Amino acid sequence: MLIGHDNVRKWLGTAIAGGRVSGAYLFMGPDGIGKAGVALEFAASLRCETGGWACGDCGQCRRVFKGVHPSVRTFAKPADKSAFPVELVREIVDEAGVKALEPGRRVFIVADADRFNESSANAFLKTLEEPPRDFTFVLLAGNAAQVLPTILSRCQAVRFAPLDEQQMKQATEGWEGLPVNPDARAILTRAAQGSPGNLRRMADRKVMDTAREFLKAVAGDPFHASEVLAASLTADESEGKRDQLRDVLALLTAALRDRMAGALAADVKPLTREISAEQRSPDAMAQAILRLDDLRERIDGNANLKLACDAIALGWPA
Ligand SMILES: [Zn+2]
Repeated sequence: MLIGHDNVRKWLGTAIAGGRVSGAYLFMGPDGIGKAGVALEFAASLRCETGGWACGDCGQCRRVFKGVHPSVRTFAKPADKSAFPVELVREIVDEAGVKALEPGRRVFIVADADRFNESSANAFLKTLEEPPRDFTFVLLAGNAAQVLPTILSRCQAVRFAPLDEQQMKQATEGWEGLPVNPDARAILTRAAQGSPGNLRRMADRKVMDTAREFLKAVAGDPFHASEVLAASLTADESEGKRDQLRDVLALLTAALRDRMAGALAADVKPLTREISAEQRSPDAMAQAILRLDDLRERIDGNANLKLACDAIALGWPA
């Protein structure tokens, strides 16, 4: 079930009702927040037999939601490629140029719009600027800052707000593998920044365990803690490790922010007492949070991962 983003859906619904549907939208917001879900719902609404917002029940809606409607296609960067391949863009452009099998608006949903490089973007620009008649592109981007300006300027931008706490609760109801401890759960939820997808990934990657191991080690020996952290990044390719470290940092930051590091697990509690005795001053906490934020930004750049781990461990207020 799709949760949240009522304002976006309402706004899109108004555009449909007023006959002001754009040829290209760019949905921006953290991965896993619901952009693809809203895009599909929007596509269904553009085809729905009721003429209003997707009823979910008519033949058009059903086929769209099943992913078998010939007029509604979804494309994404292959997982093993770091950039959106130009060959795939050419395929999209070619297919958009082919005559529709059925009357009515066609919708192409293109995920990973933040992963276009210069050549794949260039191959797309002309079609994006002047889509075929009765045609809408919906581009999805998890990282707004990485969308190329040439893409951005040709789309109507739609920003997706983080889900609030109540919506996150709703969205993750019945999920397995989340921490049982309500405090730990709250920290993990906050670290996921209002994105159920982030929360799922962090839970699956056992980010909580990594943070716990790190916190256990950092009190006695920061250098050892750094090694623990570096060793816990187990993904095969470096991009995956980077993501993983980013998740751990987000979790540690959330823990610090709440001054509840001890809630990660009962066995960290003695450590928390040590932290709190000397380091719970608002200044020390604030500085540590700023350092972690800074590190997170540097991970997005080219920071050496082992050096980043060192910096986290040595800068930890313990
Ligand atoms: Zn319908």
